[in-house]
Amino acid sequence: MAGLNWLWKALGDSSGRNQKRSQGIVAQAEKQSAQLQALDDAALAAKAREVTAGGTMKDPAVFLAVLGEASRRTLGLSPFSVQSQATLRLLEGDVVHMATGEGKTLVGAMAATGFALMGKTVHSITVNDYLAHRDAEWMRPLVEFFGLSVGSIGEKLNSEQRREVYRCDIVYGPVAEIGFDVLRDQLITDRKDAVQHGADVAIVDEADSVLVDEALVPLVLAGNEESQAPTGKITAVVRLLKEGEHFTADEDRRNVFLTDRGARRVEDLLGIDSLYTEDMADVLVQVNLALHAKELVQRDVHYIVRDGKVQLIDASRGRVADLQRWPDGLQAAVEAKEGLAVSDSGRILDTITLQALMGRYPMVCGMTGTAVEATDQLRQFYDLRVSVIDRNHELQRFDEQDRVYATLDEKNRAIVEEIAVLHAEGRPVLVGTHDVAESEQLAAELHDRGIEVSVLNAKNDAEEAKIIAEAGDLGRVTVSTQMAGRGTDIKLGGADERDRQQVVDRGGLAVIGTGRHRTSRLDNQLRGRAGRQGDPGLSLFFVSLEDDVVSVGGAGESFAAQPAPDGRIDNKRVYDFVNHCQRVTEGQLLEIHAQTWKYNKLISDQRKIIDERRARLLDTEQAWEELSQRSPRRAQELQASVDHETLVKAARVIMLYHLDEGWSEHLGMLDDVRESIHLRAIARETPIDEFHRIAVSEFKLLAQRAVDDAVETFNSVTIDADGAHMDDHGLHRPSSTWTYMVNDNPLSGNGQKALKKIASMFGRRREDDEEEN
Ligand code: ADP
Ligand code: MG
Repeated sequence: MAGLNWLWKALGDSSGRNQKRSQGIVAQAEKQSAQLQALDDAALAAKAREVTAGGTMKDPAVFLAVLGEASRRTLGLSPFSVQSQATLRLLEGDVVHMATGEGKTLVGAMAATGFALMGKTVHSITVNDYLAHRDAEWMRPLVEFFGLSVGSIGEKLNSEQRREVYRCDIVYGPVAEIGFDVLRDQLITDRKDAVQHGADVAIVDEADSVLVDEALVPLVLAGNEESQAPTGKITAVVRLLKEGEHFTADEDRRNVFLTDRGARRVEDLLGIDSLYTEDMADVLVQVNLALHAKELVQRDVHYIVRDGKVQLIDASRGRVADLQRWPDGLQAAVEAKEGLAVSDSGRILDTITLQALMGRYPMVCGMTGTAVEATDQLRQFYDLRVSVIDRNHELQRFDEQDRVYATLDEKNRAIVEEIAVLHAEGRPVLVGTHDVAESEQLAAELHDRGIEVSVLNAKNDAEEAKIIAEAGDLGRVTVSTQMAGRGTDIKLGGADERDRQQVVDRGGLAVIGTGRHRTSRLDNQLRGRAGRQGDPGLSLFFVSLEDDVVSVGGAGESFAAQPAPDGRIDNKRVYDFVNHCQRVTEGQLLEIHAQTWKYNKLISDQRKIIDERRARLLDTEQAWEELSQRSPRRAQELQASVDHETLVKAARVIMLYHLDEGWSEHLGMLDDVRESIHLRAIARETPIDEFHRIAVSEFKLLAQRAVDDAVETFNSVTIDADGAHMDDHGLHRPSSTWTYMVNDNPLSGNGQKALKKIASMFGRRREDDEEEN
């Protein structure tokens, strides 16, 4: 891309040096490969072990030569020199820039094998389940040739199966699933329940997608909560109780207690024998909450009801306090008291962003066709270098000048027209849209013109891959969103050589972009679908001045031009203007990313501290030691009747319960803080310092409270040969959990929506833009 020249230059020096060195090693490797052909499999594998013994790469040239020979024997692929070079760069921890179709799967597997031979555990990270499975199975013969093991993680696996896979030397897995396993492992109370046990290296395929585009997407682990909201009946019963007679409150009105008379009254009204039996525990909790809500929390003093929701008032400042939240049960009780819909009782137990997830690996490297364009982000956020690898065959794709139109309608008409023309020549066309709705509309219009279209809105990745794989067939028109089917090879004319020639004669695959993306990198991802391995091809983007990227990026600037009758504007100024708008958007995205990361970084540092504490509690007797130190009497009493091992376990369960509980609350609190601080950020205050201050002091409180609460539980719950009876006190862990990925993120997912969000953040949204729901 012409616009990137300066970047290539900026990369030049160190990247060029590394490249020379790698080329030298690869040349040596190639000289040795003839000799190796004489060795039998066992001898070859032994040689690889020899040069990687002791965990270091002693002779990279021999290593590459052995790997190349093994690849030929097991997969039928002799690595191209560029693939061997890229393998070296991965082993040194770079992100390699290698175009689509250049064989990055093999490169990743060769590097993974190298790391594994050096005794490291490798996670090979893919963008979805389908690719994880495909790559693991495809590369299995190569990995197993060296006596190493490989497996893949997918959504469908249960924890037993996952545990099995994570024992492999090389684990392929989609980033979300690997992250969910990390989150789930942070809730275990017995080490044997863990499914992962850490990894030394992450090799990230489509590295820019994962490390940049999706970096701030949070993975969330949520848990159900047996709703403690008092039922309508309990709320009504409690309403009848009188102070002094049925309950008393302490002086500073922080606690209420049922009197004996009160308890009897409640029992009568509810028609139960006793509130204080084991199976009435939940009812008792609810009664207490309802009483608390009725007596101690006053409308318009402690909270207001606005838009059907309970909002807390900050007592000292007399305004709605965004920063505070009540314990979930109380919130629900107040909602019940006010007759409002009781909020969902699911709650977030833990979350991690992909960026924080990647930060857990001691070493990260990766590969993508669009690394150069992400150089700044990779350096800034991961301290990663980019190495550019030459193409095996020179690029034969022609990237046409954008076609710019004044209005969206004119652009859409032109797109349909252009597809019809290309299609009439029998040339395969792949159209990249911004979202599924756009895909479907375009497909309908093409259909009206009598053009048969394959639309990629399949519900699963495997189906998408199949459709994309056929996108290079003669006369085929495929409409797809940006990311759909990534990682799938598009062979011109499918597998048939004669068909291939026909497509080549027609100029190869034509890729059409229905609009420029938020970044030129995303544009290039789409372009990269054409022109693989020296194939001929074409790429062409359509733009209208009404496109979001133009209206957002060019905020306030109007572009005066005299369009042709069909609406097209064809002059250098307009092309420069479109590029300018995209660069502005890119800058905004980078700024948002940097800002958001500052918040996340702190949370992820705190998470690390919790992790370490968790690990100590899990793996040692520290929980028991701490609790018996704090409560020696209770400890003694227990030791008389319960064996040591059970006590150690019980103490562990108690400590971990309160630690996890505290962390989950802490996260919720920080979320609120950030939300409110974010608003101030737009008002240009210094929000991050404020956030740090609150987060650090709250974290200290969390640590303290977790121990105090644990001591209290230790003193009060029944502990016997069956362990700690937490349930009796309403202290349950969620009985089920679920995971999801938050895609409502300005840096990922749906382009239109994201742009609107950014636009509004920067106060530059056009007045006539309708808010999206
Ligand atoms: P990328 O991930 O870089 O887009 P893939 O790993 O999907 O590329 O590989 C693209 C195609 O190239 C595959 O069909 C693969 O079999 C083929 N390929 C890879 N390496 C070689 C090689 N050394 N020799 C021949 N074909 C290869
Ligand atoms: Mg790939």
